[in-house]
Amino acid sequence: METKLVKIDPCRVEDFDSELKEAAEIIKRGGLVAFPTETVYGLGANALDPMAASRIYEAKGRPSDNPLIIHIADADDFEKWCICENKKALCALKESFIPGPITVIQKKKSIIPDTVTAGMDTVAVRCPSHPVARRLIELSGVPIAAPSANTSGRPSPTKATHVIEDLMGKVDMIIDGGECDVGLESTIVMLKSDGAVLLRPGGITREELEEKLGEIQVDKAVLNKLGEGEKPLAPGMKYRHYAPRASLIALKGSDTDVLEFMKSVSDDLSVGLICYREDMLCGERVQILGSASDKEEMAHRLFDCLRYFDSMEEIKTVYTRLPDTSSIGLALVNRLIKACGYTVKEL
Ligand code: AMP
Ligand code: MG
Repeated sequence: METKLVKIDPCRVEDFDSELKEAAEIIKRGGLVAFPTETVYGLGANALDPMAASRIYEAKGRPSDNPLIIHIADADDFEKWCICENKKALCALKESFIPGPITVIQKKKSIIPDTVTAGMDTVAVRCPSHPVARRLIELSGVPIAAPSANTSGRPSPTKATHVIEDLMGKVDMIIDGGECDVGLESTIVMLKSDGAVLLRPGGITREELEEKLGEIQVDKAVLNKLGEGEKPLAPGMKYRHYAPRASLIALKGSDTDVLEFMKSVSDDLSVGLICYREDMLCGERVQILGSASDKEEMAHRLFDCLRYFDSMEEIKTVYTRLPDTSSIGLALVNRLIKACGYTVKEL
């Protein structure tokens, strides 16, 4: 399939209406468009068309039991697609975080096809803040089902080049809107009549959520490997995600011990390092995750760092810093330990 590449400046979406109308036409006729959001790039299709949604699974190689998030442009539309059992919590989320990098899971309405929800009786809905995503949804006139625009299992795409690497020739259009702000997928919260459960941490932190909703439960799968037969609340959390080609090992220990270890392996040509700027390590086999005091920068850079080593044949092992779990650190640690397949080296 021929993939059309289109560049859109997110600061001037009004100047790109003809490109966005063309993208919306593709969505309306059941095709696939990859587009930027504030979290990561999404691979979009008409969420009300089961055939279109099934093309997403095919293009990504996504397991059919892993449901899709539907994207809407108007925060007042949540209840068009799902049944709200906790209006107080939904209102609080809307007031503080929506539009933005948060997905809400509630009971689905029957208009949402089973292909989108992988047969579940709930649906995940997000209202993004990214101007390109919002305009595309508005022009399409339907909710857009959109998982991350990567091949399943690979790190999520935070730049159009990542999408091109994975999906060129497999989708109708890729919209290049520059780098994604947050760089990690949305926070996923399940709303129930008696409270909320955090299924996947992201740009909206657990602390921010608890400030508005009171104490929330955190699904075990966020930080732990589940045992045989145990099921995460978000089916996607059971898959080995974000995996780079080399084996990735997270380093846990005091700052001095981690730095000393990284220096001791830094001459090994088969080793890559993901470190903090303050570690003062440099070279072709080093990626700077960000400043030790700036976890937002780390979130923004993480997937690019993971993809970087995939193009270096000689790199067999990558060691990475592991930040603490406060604020967006919980999301970073969640993605890193999954990318490591839970291999953490204690120093
Ligand atoms: P992605 O869009 O690739 O970031 O993945 C979406 C995540 O949302 C996956 O982990 C899915 O399993 C999860 N998800 C989507 N819909 C539901 C749902 N109805 N219930 C629970 N988790 C969901
Ligand atoms: Mg994904």
